[in-house]
Amino acid sequence: MPELPEIEHLGRTLDSVLPGTVIRNVSLLRPDIVRCTDSRSRRPQRCVSLCDLLLGQRIQGLLRHGKELAIISRDGPTICVHLGMSGQLWHCPRGKQLRRRDHVHCVWHLASPRTGRGQGRLVFRDPRRFGGLWCFASIQELVATRWSQLGPDALQIDTPTLRQVLARTSRSIKTALLDQRVIAGIGNIYADEILFAAGIHPQSVANELPADRYRRLAGTIQRLLGTAIAHGGSTIRDYVDGSGSAGSYATHHRVYGRATQLCVSCGQLLHAIIVAQRTTVFCPGCQALFRKA
Ligand SMILES: [Zn+2]
Repeated sequence: MPELPEIEHLGRTLDSVLPGTVIRNVSLLRPDIVRCTDSRSRRPQRCVSLCDLLLGQRIQGLLRHGKELAIISRDGPTICVHLGMSGQLWHCPRGKQLRRRDHVHCVWHLASPRTGRGQGRLVFRDPRRFGGLWCFASIQELVATRWSQLGPDALQIDTPTLRQVLARTSRSIKTALLDQRVIAGIGNIYADEILFAAGIHPQSVANELPADRYRRLAGTIQRLLGTAIAHGGSTIRDYVDGSGSAGSYATHHRVYGRATQLCVSCGQLLHAIIVAQRTTVFCPGCQALFRKA
């Protein structure tokens, strides 16, 4: 499943092609992947018009929070894209064939506002359909509703904020890092990598770490996510960036997917346990368990 580094890299690649283009047509092949939010009741409802999907609008820019990406139009209407397990969003340049046509749910046809010349297509594909598109009247409405339920963005988190959000939970640190309401953007891959790099056992109690570990953890989150972004994220199965390319950070994983292999740091056997219903790999030699008796 794509996590913060993949979505951030995707946003950066799309940011070089989408802003300034006009959406001259929208092909919605699966209407059930789109949700609108009623601005009065703030309840999700079925999307009623292609205008909600920015038909006729000029794209202003993109904004990410956690694992979600917003496409913002100049006049306000905004789409929030969530890739779920297997979603892909990419730009197909003018004159190029779509590299995959199966499970394509929505296609935006782009044009230059000055010349009317085609600027390619933006394609949303999601075989397993855990992802989707959410339409809002403005970015402010998205931030005030859907994104207000998410914790602070992991890439921006500092030590005091991390300490504050973790102080509220006595669950395991791994469970807390995976909870998007606590901190937004981290999933199973980066939770395991971050906890290994910070020397923290995944079953440590979130609000019982020594004070200096919160600083080390906050620094590790920023450094590790930053490095993963620079490598274009991790492609495990489906993830591609905005130009359709895979990320290379998976070759840098030190614990994720390496159960029963030897620790790259101390040579001990890596262990696999289940935490928060997810396979969790850690090194018993390098990761200290913090839990008051
Ligand atoms: Zn080790």
